Amino acid sequence: MAQGFMIPELPELMETAVFNDELSRERRARLAAERLLEQKQAELKNANRKLSQHALSLSDQIVDQRKVVAELEGQNSQVHEDLEKANVKVTEVERLLWDALESIPDGFALFDKDLKLIAANHPYLSVIDHAEHVGPGVSYESILDLCLEEGLVDLEGKDEDEWYDFMLDRWAAPNIEPVTLRFWNGMYVKLVDRRTADGGIVSLALNITDTIRREDELRDARDKAQAADRAKSSFLARMSHELRTPMNGVVGMAELLMANDLDEESTLYASTIKGSGEALLEIINDVLDFSKIEADKIELKPVPFDLERVVQEVALIVEPTVQQKQITLDVDYDQFLPTTFVGDRGRLRQILTNLVGNAVKFTDQGHVLIRVVGLPLENDEFQLHITVEDTGIGIDEDMVDHIFGEFNQVEDQANRKFEGTGLGLAITRRLVEHMGGEVWIDSVKGEGSAFGFMLTLPLAKDSRDDETQLPEHLQHILLAGPKSVDQSVLARQIRLLGRSTQSVETLDAALEIIEESPPDLVILSQPKPIDGTPDPVETLRSAAPDLPVILMPSSPGQADESNHPYILRKPILRHDLFSVLLTASGKTPTNSEAPEPPETDRTLQVLAAEDNKTNQLVFRKMLKDIELDLKIVGNGREAVDAFSAHRPDMIFMDISMPEMDGMEATNAIRALERKSGFEAVPIIAMTAHAVDGDEARIREAGVDHYLTKPLKREAIHKLIHALTPPDLSGTAAPRKALSEEG
Ligand code: ADP
Repeated sequence: MAQGFMIPELPELMETAVFNDELSRERRARLAAERLLEQKQAELKNANRKLSQHALSLSDQIVDQRKVVAELEGQNSQVHEDLEKANVKVTEVERLLWDALESIPDGFALFDKDLKLIAANHPYLSVIDHAEHVGPGVSYESILDLCLEEGLVDLEGKDEDEWYDFMLDRWAAPNIEPVTLRFWNGMYVKLVDRRTADGGIVSLALNITDTIRREDELRDARDKAQAADRAKSSFLARMSHELRTPMNGVVGMAELLMANDLDEESTLYASTIKGSGEALLEIINDVLDFSKIEADKIELKPVPFDLERVVQEVALIVEPTVQQKQITLDVDYDQFLPTTFVGDRGRLRQILTNLVGNAVKFTDQGHVLIRVVGLPLENDEFQLHITVEDTGIGIDEDMVDHIFGEFNQVEDQANRKFEGTGLGLAITRRLVEHMGGEVWIDSVKGEGSAFGFMLTLPLAKDSRDDETQLPEHLQHILLAGPKSVDQSVLARQIRLLGRSTQSVETLDAALEIIEESPPDLVILSQPKPIDGTPDPVETLRSAAPDLPVILMPSSPGQADESNHPYILRKPILRHDLFSVLLTASGKTPTNSEAPEPPETDRTLQVLAAEDNKTNQLVFRKMLKDIELDLKIVGNGREAVDAFSAHRPDMIFMDISMPEMDGMEATNAIRALERKSGFEAVPIIAMTAHAVDGDEARIREAGVDHYLTKPLKREAIHKLIHALTPPDLSGTAAPRKALSEEG
């Protein structure tokens, strides 16, 4: 068999083996490829399955989203619809708003934070001439420029730059102040501007032309009414002067008549004429004053004045009545209170005169006391409390309000005998209230009354108290005399000066003390001997020749000045007390030690200006007891001429005179004096109370003293005595007349 087969040759064998290898490698490769195919097919299948699953879920999502989209589409159209509605509404509201803004006569504009116009209504733009250039986006600055270029606004004195800056600065302020502009067409516009939350500006331009016109009309009407009122007031003043002038003549003549040797009956007639005349003058004064207050014509004229002096002057005015009635009048001015304040001196004196006059009128026994105290406030002001106490008839509690009314009096038995208009307290209260104060009253029927008022006044700048000290050796002061309010006021004032006092009522008691422990000074308040008793002054002098004695007469005639150099007159002025203590204790030369005035042949020269012939006569007669040269002229012009021709020692000057009144004449005389370097001549104004009642005004003209009509002989004599130059006081003519007055 083996022979059947041909045994291949080796190369052949080798070839077959390669072929087989090849074949099996191919079979293996095919198998591997087949396996890979299967695997890939499986993967593909798997992927297909996943894909179809995904496709399924995608289609689900698409379905869902379609639903959402459908829903959203529904909503969107709703929103769209709503938006459209809202837009319509907004447009409508905007239209309504602008219709409203256009229909108001006032302008309205809105600016953004860069001050560019957002919108403005027609009235706002109408005042601007070329308003077509002004629209949204235009800046505030260019509107201002336009106003200036076209001359649309009255710049009221400002120059263009100033006005421009002012208008710009206004809007920069935190709170924009309204401003009123006057436009070229006469229109007045008030700009009221506010800043909005986003920094813009809302500007309202209010047309206030009508209001301004009405204000002008009202001002015109008021001016006319005031002019009419002034005319009425000057008519009242004129009438009062006309009524008063003859009345002053009547009263003055009656006074002169009474100085003659009249029998009892004629004296009665003359005193009745005088009394009635004075009462009538008082009524005229009251009525005029009241009508002035009613017409709000009372204008306060605050000037620096000495309050203590005013109180003393008032006390002097009522002194004659006080003496007649045998009552006492005391002044207690707080030792620590300054005396110079700023206020209406004349009106304050009027208030005090009313209260003190009433107190004296309604008191028949006892005393009247004027008390002044004060509390310092801030800013150099003082709250002053001024009280007038009396021990008179008093007032029923239920009448207290009544008496402050116009023309109101207490109508009862005790009151019936007193005259009056019932206007005094009404005037007093109104004046005090006009000065910002208040009046009060405290009264017990049958026991007395206390009327007071409280007032705040600033201290005058020059109100510095005297720094001088009393001498050391003056420590103990003896007060001798009957007990009185005056005595206790005096004791208190001395103690406040740091000195001790002792009071005794009788001369014997005083002598006893002088012997046991001598005082450094005595103040004697009963200097005249009472019938049958020794002369107190003489007795003291012989008991202690070196002891200084000050006399305090209770009435002017009680002490003879020529014998007693140290006199303390009532009411006790702090300044007077201080200086008499100084002179009596030897700190300054006393009057008696003063060098004698040189002898002179010259006579006192007095010039008087008075237009009314009766008053001229009254004045001349009142001065007839005094040795002097009196020249009377009829008006201010003649007074100035007479002054230039021959300088007098003093001038009495009526205030109301034709051609040139007393104030003008005084001014002219003062000017002449300044020009020529002359010393100022004393000028005494003579004036009626209500017409020329403004004392401050008269004093401003350069008047030194002030007398109210009807003139009183005693007051004139006192002034002449006080104003006589030292080189003439030796002639003693006025002094003689004074002591005769006693
Ligand atoms: P007149 O004194 O002119 O009557 P007033 O207005 O001054 O007017 O006073 C009104 C009234 O008040 C007086 O009539 C009097 O009845 C009463 N009266 C005023 N002051 C006093 C006083 N000090 N004491 C008692 N009554 C007084």
